[in-house]
Formats: sequence, C-alpha cells, structure tokens
Amino acid sequence: MASATCALCGQQAESEDVPLTWMTSIEDGRKLLYCDRCARENVRSIEGKLDSVYW
Ligand SMILES: [Zn+2]
Repeated sequence: MASATCALCGQQAESEDVPLTWMTSIEDGRKLLYCDRCARENVRSIEGKLDSVYW
C-alpha cells in the first residue's frame, strides 16, 4: 500500500496512515487527500460548496 499522497501538491505522508492534520475529501466517488497546507487553502472553496448547498 502506497503512503498517503496529497492530491494537490503531491506531498507524501511519512507513514501509510493519514496524518490527523490532513483532510479527506470525497469527490466524484473518489477519496482524495489533502495535506495540512493544501487543506487550509481548500477550506474556502469547500465552504463555498457548502454555502451553495445551503442556498
Ligand atoms: Zn498538499
């Protein structure tokens, strides 16, 4: 099993386990991982999706 890899920047986790600071996102039925830095940058777009759902 390959180690966890960030879907955006390609950074790999040091272990096979996903770090707690990483974020998991299900998009188009696929499980995507984002490292802590990319997750922070993605919070806005993800919250934007949620907002559109609420509206
Ligand atoms: Zn990343």
